[in-house]
Amino acid sequence: MKQQNIRHLVSVPTDRVAQRIAVVGAGVAGLSCARELLLRGHEPVVFEASDRVGGRCSSRSTPVGRFDDAAQVVSGATRLASYAVQRPGELAAIHPWTVPATPAEDEPKGRDRDVDQDESDVTRTLKLMGAVGVPSMRALAEAVARPLDVRLDTPIRHAQRSGAGWLLHGAAGTIDEEFQALVLALPAPLALPLARESAGVAAALRAVRYRSRWVLLLGTDRAVGLPGYREFQGSPIERVAAMHSKPGRPNGTSQRWFIEADEKWSLQHEDDDAEGVADLLLDNFRAHARRSVNPNFLCAHQWRHAFVETTAPLSGYSNCLWDPAARLGVCGDSVVASQVDRVHRSGVALAAWMAEGLASGRQRNAVHQAGRAARSSFEAQAAYG
Ligand SMILES: Cc1cc2nc3c(=O)[nH]c(=O)nc-3n(C[C@H](O)[C@H](O)[C@H](O)COP(=O)(O)OP(=O)(O)OC[C@H]3O[C@@H](n4cnc5c(N)ncnc54)[C@H](O)[C@@H]3O)c2cc1C
Repeated sequence: MKQQNIRHLVSVPTDRVAQRIAVVGAGVAGLSCARELLLRGHEPVVFEASDRVGGRCSSRSTPVGRFDDAAQVVSGATRLASYAVQRPGELAAIHPWTVPATPAEDEPKGRDRDVDQDESDVTRTLKLMGAVGVPSMRALAEAVARPLDVRLDTPIRHAQRSGAGWLLHGAAGTIDEEFQALVLALPAPLALPLARESAGVAAALRAVRYRSRWVLLLGTDRAVGLPGYREFQGSPIERVAAMHSKPGRPNGTSQRWFIEADEKWSLQHEDDDAEGVADLLLDNFRAHARRSVNPNFLCAHQWRHAFVETTAPLSGYSNCLWDPAARLGVCGDSVVASQVDRVHRSGVALAAWMAEGLASGRQRNAVHQAGRAARSSFEAQAAYG
C-alpha cells in the first residue's frame, strides 16, 4: 500500500466547505479521526511513518506467518465494524473471539496433550474476550483505511503554521500541499516536536508519560499445552495469546504465540538487548507450558511507547485536545487510556469537535458554544460507545 492515494469512496452531502486536514499517524486514533472527518465532508490526508497502517493495533509478517504484535483484542464497544465493508462469503474485518472459560480444565492434563483437542471439546463454556481483526489486526486497520488518502513511509519531521493553515516537512523536504488543520495521532513524545506552534497543546503533551513493554513472538511446530489466551499472575509473563485460536486466521504449519512481559519486568529490562530478553521469556513460557517448547521462530520486540502512564490534562474538549486558534488537534492514547476502543473514541471525538470548529470561522468562541450543545448528544453517541 505504498503511497496510497485512493480517492474518497464515501461522499456525504454537506453544506460546509470541505477542508483539507493533515492527520499524522495511521494508528486506530488517526484512522478513526480521518474516517469521521471524511464522513463529515472534509478531505483528510493521513501521513504514516512506517510501511503499514494500524500502529500498535497491527500485525507483522514473519517466515512462520503473521503475528498480531501489540493489541490482541478490542474489549470495549467501537464503531470500527461500521467502517469495514464485509465481502460476501467472508468473515467481517472484525469478529468476536471466544476462548475456554474454565481455567482448571484449560491446564494440560498429559505431557503431550494437544491444546487444540482441549479447545474442540464442545461441552466446555466459552468466554467472549472481545473482538479481533480478521484475518489479522492489521486487516482491521486496513479496512478502516481503505477509502482514505494514506501516505505510507512518510514520517513528518516538522509542522509549521502558514497563513491560516499548516505546512508539513517530511524526510524528503517540504510537502507541497497546504492544510487547513492538523491532527497529531501519535504518542506524545513523538507528537511534541510537531506541536510547538500551540503553547497550550505543547504544555499538555509535555505532561504525558509512557511505559515501555517487551513482547516475544514465538513460532513452534508442536502444540503448546496452553489455552489460546491466558493471563498470568506474577512476573515476568503477563499474558499469552495464540494466533491460531483467533477466528479467521489461516492454519499455518506453525503455532504462533504472542507472549507479553509485565510492566515491572519490562521496566527492569528496559536497556537489555532483544536476544537476552527472548531467552529469558522463552524459559518462562516453557515453565508455564510445562513441556519443552522448541521454537522455529523467535523475535523479542520492545514497544518504547507501549502504554500511557499519565495522560495529557484536557481542557474543555472530552477525549482529545483541540486548539481552535492554531487549528491543531491531538487524539490517541496521549489523551485517553491505552486501549483500542478508547483511542478510536478519541479520534471520533476530535473529528466532531473539529467539524464544529472549522465550520464556524470564529473557531474559539463558536466551538465553545456549539460544543456545549453538541457535547451531551455526542457523548451519548460516544457511549455506544
Ligand atoms: C504490547 C501491547 C499490547 C497491547 N494490547 C492491547 C489489547 O489487547 N487491547 C487494547 O485495547 N489495547 C492494547 N494495547 C494498546 C493499544 O494498542 C494502543 O493504545 C492503541 O493501539 C494506540 O493507538 P494510537 O492510534 O493512539 O497510536 P499508535 O497505534 O501508536 O499510532 C501512531 C502511529 O503514528 C505513526 N508515527 C509515529 N511518528 C510519526 C511521524 N513522525 N510521522 C508519521 N507517522 C508517525 C506510528 O508509526 C503509528 O503507526 C496494547 C499495546 C501494546 C504496546
